Amino acid sequence: RNAGLGSWIHKRRVKSVGKVAVVNGESELTYDALAERVDRLANALAERGVASGTRVAYLGNNHPAYLETLFACGLLGALFVPLNTRLAPRELQYALNDSGSTVLVGSGLLEPLAESGSRDTGVVHRLVVHDGGGEDSPAESYEVAIAAAPADHRDIDVTLEDPAIILYTSGTTGNPKGALLTHGNMTWNAINVLVDYDVTGDEVALMIAPMFHVASLGMGALPTLLKGGTLVLQDRFEPSAVLAAIEKHQVTSLSGVPTTYQMLAEHPAWATTDISSLRKLTCGGSAVPVRVMDAYEERGLAFSGGYGMTETAPGATSLQQERSREKAGSAGLPHFFTDIRIVDAMGEPQPAGAVGEIQISGPNVIPSYWQRPEATEQSFADGSWFRSGDMGYVDDEGFLYISDRLKDMIISGGENIYPAEVEQAIMELDSVSAVAVIGIPDEKWGEVPRAIVVPAQGGGLDDAALIEHLSTRLAKYKIPKTVVFVDDLPRTASGKIRKADLRKTHGA
Ligand code: ATP
Ligand code: MG
Repeated sequence: RNAGLGSWIHKRRVKSVGKVAVVNGESELTYDALAERVDRLANALAERGVASGTRVAYLGNNHPAYLETLFACGLLGALFVPLNTRLAPRELQYALNDSGSTVLVGSGLLEPLAESGSRDTGVVHRLVVHDGGGEDSPAESYEVAIAAAPADHRDIDVTLEDPAIILYTSGTTGNPKGALLTHGNMTWNAINVLVDYDVTGDEVALMIAPMFHVASLGMGALPTLLKGGTLVLQDRFEPSAVLAAIEKHQVTSLSGVPTTYQMLAEHPAWATTDISSLRKLTCGGSAVPVRVMDAYEERGLAFSGGYGMTETAPGATSLQQERSREKAGSAGLPHFFTDIRIVDAMGEPQPAGAVGEIQISGPNVIPSYWQRPEATEQSFADGSWFRSGDMGYVDDEGFLYISDRLKDMIISGGENIYPAEVEQAIMELDSVSAVAVIGIPDEKWGEVPRAIVVPAQGGGLDDAALIEHLSTRLAKYKIPKTVVFVDDLPRTASGKIRKADLRKTHGA
């Protein structure tokens, strides 16, 4: 019996006859058509040696082939390895070698990257999705492989404990680690989402963020498909296309990061687009700025927020629309089947109000990293509590507030400084485009904060003005002692600032 993700599409094929599962540009796939393609693809992959435990990587932006490959792997008990399309060839090689992938399915638009990235790896079969590019690729055609394969349905035993996906963390604090997500992890996360965000069978979810990120896959795509809703895919974020799609497809839910929402609200077509079909906006990564909240509230819309990570598939906490203003800045309450706790440096659970490490337990938490026993060992406390590496506190109603990452915390004269708080205060200045605050060694204080600032175009900013601005906002020990101006900050493929690199280049 297949109890995993591969079985979902077949159950929906029976329960949602004629219903559209995926819209991609002008083409639509019903659950029935999707199920048939998934069966054929599973057979095509099996003919190429894919079996239980084989790793199959996918390189591409949002496209039905991403979902087909995910579900086909689920039917075969194989592991799906989604890759970030912004990786450099060497980073791609690292992920392919680390996961031991033997098959790479990828978009024709990314052929040069797939070709160079799979060199010197164990990849023996490449299937190319001809979505408008790469027609002259030496690799096999995905569509031809599907058409040539039989449509019979494979039914092998897959349990909820079996691994389904290897998903690499963003690599913000070191080398990306492969999180080994089981069928149960993804299923329980989807159930948490259905309970806490009221997803319905009539859902039309516009997929703006790439599904190779766990947030888009776990919070958007899978819960919507579990309920029998419709996904409308966007292969990149372009505000005017997003606004047009909301009106055309009568989109009911969107998920994104604060800048996504800000860019939509600032677009000239925002005021004239009919967005009355929208019911649900979810926003992750960080808290929604109040001015962005205001722009949506004027049109009757409120946000739900959330906190999570690759290792928790990804939802750990969620902030409901109704409480989003009252609890502004909070990441909300734990998801229904998941628990959080705050512990001090000795591992002792802390009361409300005390800042400590956020730990997470629940059926959505990974059992281990892929082939990294040491990292796995270090990441769990008392058996089942996953150490997030993030610091925060809960208020007396249990709402979580995130301070910053443990690794980024600065200790100055015995006081903890959370760079995120200092960075937010600096970002209030229009003359600043981006900022990172790191600790540098200091004889007297142990460490003192330093701000690395990217000035905005036409800036007119100097360190005295910056420090003056902070003096009324922050305690003296939190104010950076030095400011360095740079053109750019080093970032990961998912856009997060690499603080470890900054500490190397600007930390002395
Ligand atoms: P790595 O683990 O490789 O260093 P990463 O932690 O950035 O990379 P992800 O799993 O993509 O990889 O990101 C999860 C992290 O993102 C969380 O641990 C947290 O630091 C941050 N994060 C997620 N949601 C929020 C939020 N609502 N507010 C603040 N930070 C958040
Ligand atoms: Mg992490």
